[in-house]
Amino acid sequence: MSLLERDAVVIWHPYTQMKTAGLPVPIVKGQGLYLTDENGKQYMDAISSWWVNIHGHAHPYIAQKVAEQLNTLEHVIFSGFTHEPAIELAERLLKCLPPNQSKIFYSDNGSTAVEVALKMAIQFWYNQGKKKQKIIALEHSYHGDTFGAMSVSARSAFTNPFYPFLFEVIHIPFPHKNKEFKAVDALKEIMKNGKDEIAAFIFEPLVLGAGGMLMYEEDTLNELLGICNENEVLTIADEVMTGFGRTGKMFASEYLAHQPDILCLSKGLTGGTMALGVTSCTQKIYGAFLSDDKGKTFFHGHSFTANPVACAASLASLDLLLDEICQKNIHMITNAQQGFADELQKLPNAENVRNKGSLLAFDFKTHEQTSYFNSVRDQLYQYFLDRGIIIRPLGNTIYLMPPYCIQPSELNRIYDAIKELLVMG
Ligand SMILES: *Cc1c(COP(=O)(O)O)cnc(C)c1O
Repeated sequence: MSLLERDAVVIWHPYTQMKTAGLPVPIVKGQGLYLTDENGKQYMDAISSWWVNIHGHAHPYIAQKVAEQLNTLEHVIFSGFTHEPAIELAERLLKCLPPNQSKIFYSDNGSTAVEVALKMAIQFWYNQGKKKQKIIALEHSYHGDTFGAMSVSARSAFTNPFYPFLFEVIHIPFPHKNKEFKAVDALKEIMKNGKDEIAAFIFEPLVLGAGGMLMYEEDTLNELLGICNENEVLTIADEVMTGFGRTGKMFASEYLAHQPDILCLSKGLTGGTMALGVTSCTQKIYGAFLSDDKGKTFFHGHSFTANPVACAASLASLDLLLDEICQKNIHMITNAQQGFADELQKLPNAENVRNKGSLLAFDFKTHEQTSYFNSVRDQLYQYFLDRGIIIRPLGNTIYLMPPYCIQPSELNRIYDAIKELLVMG
């Protein structure tokens, strides 16, 4: 039997309507920017394999470090025990993270990093005997697929079946260009009446990823964070997507004057090699859990918390990321994306062109009602796939999120395919 036949018998794929979806592409090898299918066809991975793969596929340096770790210590319970990869990774992350961050809590992925952040924020107040339990989030936000993460995400077709089980969250308007005041006013209004009930504000800094690669200004976010600080509302930066150089700086929070109390990382953390989540926090947050009263303990953990192999992959990925070669290439990609964004502005059928660091997005002009489910999306996806390029539009939003190893000629091949599409209309 072929891979596809075997797959069809036993596999249920994520985010896939198994009745109508086309067949998956059976990949047998990855190298750098390229994935190869079982027939030998090559694909440029322009979305870093669901936004995780920052250095290209099967990077030999990461593979070597992972292999060394596998032969030394593959796993150990992280409650009552510790190990060097976890300690070293925490030390090195704290050197890169905003200076107010002082402790690292490990979990398994982006959703769990968010769950941990929410539980930390709520228990921070609980441990002090305060009834601050409500969470504020941005309209169109996406924070993951577990129940807490879904609750703070936008209500959408993704979350409809679970609606009655999601806890109540106050969503403020997304700060669309020239309408930023709406978000600011909404937050001020909430604080006026209810600041004593609000535990935290969670946000994706500067770019809302799955919500449609929506970008907003750092000045606006600074203003929102300032309001939270004044009103004793904790701030949680979900940098699961924006972390590790995506926006042109190591973390999007570096663009901001106000630093978050809690910060979530995953995706690029291990260079896309394996799953790992990190939630960092300030000394103030950590301090509220220190007590002779065992009830104030943070009772959260996963079987694979701080897995040594995942930590080793992260350390290797950090080595590569901080190297001058990678930093220069991020700079090159940023400039190329800026140049292409300028070009796109002049082309027909491209709307709302936006870019930040290595990210570029625009909306393909369509007369269809736009949604995640429209057929334009499927046609666009297939158009690029036929040309050996992996791009997964969000509705009619086309975006590029390449690994940092991509070369100018490869970017140009992708740009040419986009231009051809836009001219065809
Ligand atoms: C992907 C994503 C998550 C969820 O991460 P998973 O590892 O897929 O659970 C959370 N927040 C943001 C901003 C994301 O982009």
